[in-house]
Formats: sequence, structure tokens, C-alpha cells
Amino acid sequence: MTERLMMVGAGLSGAVLARQLAEAGHAITVVDARSHVAGNCHTARDPQTGVMVHVYGPHIFHTDDDRVWDYVQRFARFRSYKNQVKTTVAGQVYSLPVNLHTINQFFGRAMRPEEARAFVAARTADIPDPQTFEEQALAFVGPDLYAAFFKGYTEKQWGTSPANLPASILKRLPLRFTYDDNYFFHRHQGIPENGYTAMVAAILDHPGISVRLETVFDPSEAADWNHVFWSGPLDGFFNYRLGRLGYRTLDFETFRATGDWQGCAVMNHPGADVPFTRISEHKHFAPWESHAESVLYREYPRACGPDDIPYYPIRLAQEKSLLADYVALAKEAPNVTFVGRLGTYRYLDMDVTIREALDLAAAFLAARSTGTPAPRFSGAPL
Ligand SMILES: Cc1cc2nc3c(=O)[nH]c(=O)nc-3n(C[C@H](O)[C@H](O)[C@H](O)COP(=O)(O)OP(=O)(O)OC[C@H]3O[C@@H](n4cnc5c(N)ncnc54)[C@H](O)[C@@H]3O)c2cc1C
Repeated sequence: MTERLMMVGAGLSGAVLARQLAEAGHAITVVDARSHVAGNCHTARDPQTGVMVHVYGPHIFHTDDDRVWDYVQRFARFRSYKNQVKTTVAGQVYSLPVNLHTINQFFGRAMRPEEARAFVAARTADIPDPQTFEEQALAFVGPDLYAAFFKGYTEKQWGTSPANLPASILKRLPLRFTYDDNYFFHRHQGIPENGYTAMVAAILDHPGISVRLETVFDPSEAADWNHVFWSGPLDGFFNYRLGRLGYRTLDFETFRATGDWQGCAVMNHPGADVPFTRISEHKHFAPWESHAESVLYREYPRACGPDDIPYYPIRLAQEKSLLADYVALAKEAPNVTFVGRLGTYRYLDMDVTIREALDLAAAFLAARSTGTPAPRFSGAPL
């Protein structure tokens, strides 16, 4: 039986879900408050320079999930892209993630991998059970590399001292004892040749899908639909009645230049004396194109207010306790599934977002065929 399904949000979550459910024979209406599809992955040509801009910040697609990689190939031609981030520290440019080149340059040495490993190990702090980001960093990399490459950036990104952040944020050893400067480990990496918005528009291009932009969905309309998939903020669905889940937002200061301004796509500026965290030069995200002019973003993180775009969920103890209360409310909400980065209050890379949407569509269809309740979330929020 064809059902009338509402998809709130035309980002990757909403688009992939809509496509899967439309292909299964359902009639999907997708609404988005914004004037474009693709959510935070939106790309658009800058009218002044012609450069493809990653409007809500740089997005590089990377995955080890073959199913997701095959899926996106259906809707866009991907060009291979290697993310090579640089960082300016005390007037010198280094390569990230911190690798053998960075370590040798920073300490003025020419060490081989095992020498560097022993050299760094001798400088790390002996903290058996690190509890905070700072302790974890001191145990992993020692005070010098921590102060130069991690401390200032983290402080600016999260608006608090790394001594107040949990160790879990710094999960892996953030050092490489090779000269590999590929930021991501994943086998598949790339950027859609015509940008993410064209890819998402292609995903949504199906006779069973109608898209309405500049349309805000009010949760009170949920009863008008057989089922609602909500990729807006979880607390927003409940009109923030228990309080707001904390986020960090970003301000992008745009500037333009002639030629090649910084020589790379992303230059970090971790120093406490610089108010922004990084500068992105968008034309370097499409090295297959050629542009005489350039457009750049300076990125300033700050606390997210009610009218700002929520970017990074904070997820400290206080937020997790409020989140648990919203999860309890969500479990009682009839005919709604909360999806994506905002609906589940998690940072999600694009590949994970797509995988979760594919899995949720399958779980929803299976629930419908067996008459069991639809899943509440696309992924566990807690
Ligand atoms: C700065 C930054 C950089 C990133 N870089 C990368 C990267 O390099 N690689 C990577 O894999 N991932 C990256 N990501 C993650 C990526 O942005 C997410 O995976 C992706 O955007 C999640 O898609 P979504 O559909 O869940 O959410 P969104 O893209 O946020 O889409 C949700 C949509 O819902 C709409 N909406 C909300 N409420 C309503 C309502 N009531 N009515 C109508 N519409 C509504 C919003 O307007 C929005 O368009 C980055 C994220 C950030 C913040």
C-alpha cells in the first residue's frame, strides 16, 4: 500500500531516505526551510569568482563502506581528492595530521620513524588513566606538540579549556611516524565533480518524490501524514520545552583574492593569538577546475544561539542528561522517526549519514511489512 510520508529536511538524511522509500512505492513529500537542497553539504558557485563554494564549511567525502561508495556513484561523478591540511604555528607552516615531517620540522631533526617514536615517547607524560582531553594529549604526544598543534585549536573549537573536555574526544594517537599526510585513512575519498547539491538533487529526482523548499514543517502537522521522518533538531520537535541541547556554531568571514591566496585548501591557525581556527580556499576543493580569482572563508567557532545554525553537538555530561530526557519524549511521539545529525544529536560524517539512512529505510519497510512499530531513531542518540 502506498503511504504518504513526510520527510523534514532535504539534507543527505532526508534525500537518501526519500529515495529509498519512493523506490519502494511510497509517496514522499520533502520539505526544507532553506532555499536549497543538500542541507549542510550544500555547494554553490560564487557569482563573483565562479568557484564552487562549500557554503556551510569544507566537505570531503571519505568512506570504507563499499555500499555507500557504490550508492553515491549512482548520483554523481566523483573526482578523486586527497585532503592535505596544513597548519601555521608561530610563523611556520607544518603538515597535518602530525606526521614524521611535522615532528622532524618542529624539533629541527632528521629522525627515522623508530627514532621519532622513541623521541616522542620520551617526552610524553605518564598518565595511566587519562580523563580529560588535555591529559590524553599529554600522554599521547607530550607537552610541546600538544601546545603547538592541539591546545589552541581545541580551545577555540569548543570554547573551553581542553582540561574540561573528556578524553574520548581524542580517541586515537593523533601522530603518524610516516610521511603520509593524507588526512583520512579511508579507501574511498573524493568530491562530486559538480558539487554536493547536484548530487542530492539527483537523489531526489524520482517521480515518487515532491520537494518543497522554503517551507518550515511544524511538528503539529505530524498527524496529517502516515509517518514523519524528522531530520531537524531533536529538541526543536518538542519546541525546546525542556531546554536547548548545546551546540557550537560557526561564523564564516568571506574574502576574495586574485590568483592562489594560500596554496592549499585548508590552513589551520591553532594559535591563541588568532581568533579564527582555519582558512578554507574553496577552489582547491576542485583542483580539476581553473579560476583566476579565489574565494576564502575564515572560520570562527562560537556558542550557538537560538537563531544560529547548530553545527557541532557538545555532548558533555549536562547535554547528555537533557538528551536522555528528549529521547524519552521521542519514544512516546507517535508516527515520527528522528534521523540524521540533528535528529539524533550526533556528529555524523556524510558516509555514516548515508549508511544510516539506507539502513533505516530498510528497517522501516520491514516494520511495515510485519506490522511492527517503525524505528524511533536512525542511530542511537545516547
Ligand atoms: C563544518 C562541517 C564540516 C563537515 N565536513 C565534513 C566532511 O568533510 N566530510 C564528511 O563526511 N562530513 C562532514 N560534515 C558532516 C556533514 O555535514 C553531515 O554528515 C551531513 O550534513 C548530515 O546530513 P543531515 O541530512 O543529517 O543534516 P543536515 O545537512 O543538517 O540537513 C537537515 C536539514 O533539515 C532542515 N530542517 C530542519 N528543521 C526543519 C523544519 N522544521 N522544517 C523544514 N526543514 C527543516 C534544515 O534546513 C537542513 O537543511 C561536516 C559538518 C560540519 C558541521
